[in-house]
Amino acid sequence: MSSRPDTVVVVGAGPTGLALACELGLAGLHTRVLERREAPRRDSRAICLHARSVEMLDLRGLGERFLEAGLPVPSFPLGPKGAVIDFRRLDSDFPFILDIPQSQIESILLTRAQELGVEIQWSAEVVDVAEDDAGVRLRVEGPAGAGEERAAYVVACDGLRSLVRERLNVPFPGAPNPGSVTLADVYLDGLPMTDAHGELSEGGMLLVFPFRDGSCRVVLYDYARASVPVTEPVGLDEVREGLVRVTGSDFGVRDLYWSSRYRSESRQATRYRVGRIFLAGDAAHTHSPAGAQGLNAGFQDAMNLGWKLGAAVAGWAPDWLLDSYHTERHPVGEQVLRLTGMQFRLNTARNRRGRLRRRAAYRLVTPLPPVQAWMARRYSGVSVAYPPTISPSHRLTGTRLPGGRLTLADGTAVRVSELFHDARFVLLESARDGKRADLADLPDHVRAVSYVRRDGRAWPPSLLVRPDGYAAWASDEPDPGRRAPALREALRTWCSRADAARSTRSADTSP
Ligand SMILES: Cc1cc2nc3c(=O)[nH]c(=O)nc-3n(C[C@H](O)[C@H](O)[C@H](O)COP(=O)(O)OP(=O)(O)OC[C@H]3O[C@@H](n4cnc5c(N)ncnc54)[C@H](O)[C@@H]3O)c2cc1C
Repeated sequence: MSSRPDTVVVVGAGPTGLALACELGLAGLHTRVLERREAPRRDSRAICLHARSVEMLDLRGLGERFLEAGLPVPSFPLGPKGAVIDFRRLDSDFPFILDIPQSQIESILLTRAQELGVEIQWSAEVVDVAEDDAGVRLRVEGPAGAGEERAAYVVACDGLRSLVRERLNVPFPGAPNPGSVTLADVYLDGLPMTDAHGELSEGGMLLVFPFRDGSCRVVLYDYARASVPVTEPVGLDEVREGLVRVTGSDFGVRDLYWSSRYRSESRQATRYRVGRIFLAGDAAHTHSPAGAQGLNAGFQDAMNLGWKLGAAVAGWAPDWLLDSYHTERHPVGEQVLRLTGMQFRLNTARNRRGRLRRRAAYRLVTPLPPVQAWMARRYSGVSVAYPPTISPSHRLTGTRLPGGRLTLADGTAVRVSELFHDARFVLLESARDGKRADLADLPDHVRAVSYVRRDGRAWPPSLLVRPDGYAAWASDEPDPGRRAPALREALRTWCSRADAARSTRSADTSP
């Protein structure tokens, strides 16, 4: 039972809950994760991380751990053979998808959360939640019986059937998607395990995602089996027969070690915040697995909300900051629903008109270089941008800061992502022409960095970046003295509460 007033409780230790727990732990908050499962997940479910997710993991120093566990593959299959999104030209340090089973994603995040002092309680099912004058009260059931927990804030990362969302009476409009898909983790001797693969025929659709250990995930939309109840187990024979029905070959399938029948739904909560309680991940939005967006969208919810809750508990969050979680993430959820819905309908249309539209889309439209570039940015998540908060806004405001390397004023070279490992704001000031801004008197949660050179496209002379890697403010004014008032205003808007006591630190040019 928790009685500390600064506790944040995360309900659910799925990928969203664990990613959020890492962010809260990093912010130094007393964080408790309540999970009804008895132990960490062993099954694989979702299977890939898109570039923006890997970029964000890299912002926290976790990129290497994930790259060692996953397999980078250059393209994402859209359906028909050869129809892919090619990520190789993506403007990112990670121009690929990283194939990695969900169980491994959760395992790495769990280890990190524990390193950061987060308390994870297994076999703890939240059965009720309500806000009162003193914060949030949760009723929790476990092997030892029922008890009560208190928290300053609660984040519901409790998945599609979220109890918290239900208790809050937040509507979750939408519908199940037609048909179910068969998922199987197997070995396929007949396909190279170096890139993803897709095929679409009169019999259905096959997508294959290779893993680092030489096995792969088979996703089969087998029309002959699409209305089988999802509770019916999937065996190797069914996978083999499905492969033959859909593609004409069984690809030497063998050694099935996990399988499931999955019927997705497309829904979105109407509100992501009710007072001190927030919804994130599948509890807030769910969609078809087309485009592998679900886990990635939840992960990015967590990265958006974590530092904001950290600011709220530390006492420096501006009044509007917690509301910006809904303002920023709800439209992204809508976009994901539109994108996945469009691809799902395109791939599963079986009438003549639908088939013609699909052929035109995949043969004529998706191979076009501008369409490829658009799709790579959209599916990878790097195109996500948040509305500007300060007017007039700069063209970069709200966009994500691409990676790359910087040479600092003292001559050291750093990767941009290294500057964000401790989840502070980063104020990037160009010192190229020798002019230096007066960066004394900054709040503790803002790191000032003077740099002389950046590889790639130049940045504006002054750029304030949020802890999650999105530009909060930027200025093209070359004279530090002349841009100082606008910078002060930006810092006041983003990084302080009018009545909060501010600790100060002198300029820091080291990562
Ligand atoms: C079979 C299957 C295959 C999938 N395949 C893909 C795919 O290929 N690509 C893709 O992008 N997505 C896929 N998904 C979806 C993806 O797994 C989800 O988007 C992702 O898991 C969402 O993460 P989450 O943390 O928000 O929710 P979840 O992973 O659902 O985690 C919620 C957690 O909350 C816990 N919980 C629930 N209620 C309570 C409670 N009252 N008290 C305490 N704990 C509670 C649950 O036990 C669970 O651990 C698949 C899902 C399934 C089921």
